[in-house]
Amino acid sequence: MTLTLPTATPAGYNFGFLDELSKKTIRRALLKAVAIPGYQVPFGSRELPIARGWGTGGLQITLSLIGRGDIVKVIDQGADESVNAVNLRRLIERTSPGVGVTTSTREATIIQTRHRIPETPLAPSQILVFQVPLPEPLRVVEPREAETRRMHAEADYSRMWVALYEDLVRNGRITRAAGYPVLVNRRYVMSPSPIPRWDVPRLHQAEHLSLFGAGREKRIYAVPPWTDVEPLAFTDYPFTVERFETPCARCGSRTSYLTLVPDEGSRRYVCSDTEYCDRQVAMREEER
Ligand SMILES: [Zn+2]
Repeated sequence: MTLTLPTATPAGYNFGFLDELSKKTIRRALLKAVAIPGYQVPFGSRELPIARGWGTGGLQITLSLIGRGDIVKVIDQGADESVNAVNLRRLIERTSPGVGVTTSTREATIIQTRHRIPETPLAPSQILVFQVPLPEPLRVVEPREAETRRMHAEADYSRMWVALYEDLVRNGRITRAAGYPVLVNRRYVMSPSPIPRWDVPRLHQAEHLSLFGAGREKRIYAVPPWTDVEPLAFTDYPFTVERFETPCARCGSRTSYLTLVPDEGSRRYVCSDTEYCDRQVAMREEER
């Protein structure tokens, strides 16, 4: 369902909430990020009427990019109707007259997401904007910002490899689940935001542009279309994604990422991408 709300911008507010100069600065950082895939570009994160840590980085990117005629979808862990997604969508809607909002992955021109990539493959014309809590993949091995900057500059990722190796030795496998570190364009190690492992291979050579915004940490980075994104792994311990024993309890899909939800005293696995799940259910009913 797509809604276009022809309301005027609320008095005292600019289109897209941010002032034009701020939007321009953010777009400039985005251009740099696209030019250097995986590199974290510092930017002057603006104040927004939502708390930092609730998606302000992603939201600033979305607000800087939208224009009249755009259609925006916002998801939180794959769901369109969670509180965070609903509130961010409402803010975009109210401050950006002429911009449509949708739950349909295929109709959206910009999809802002927290921790998931939609199951429906994205087209080259679509932009995926990630809300990122912790942009620095090396923070787990190095607390000093200056030192992580040096490590990135010199492509000195030895400590990251040692950490992965130690994890393997202790646990028999690499235990990192969400935000698995990846090498982008064979140059920068990047955190793909806390998406599940399931979504990581879907960034590799993707047709769409992925933009990452960390508002609290003031960093923007990007994966342009047709870019190599390789998870860090060892030849004898290759990267693997989550496996599910059962199909989705709602739509029966065996090819989507599932989450455990409570269901009348027990629990069941359903698609984390609610729009995808709804569409599969609708398609199955049509077939009947
Ligand atoms: Zn499903």
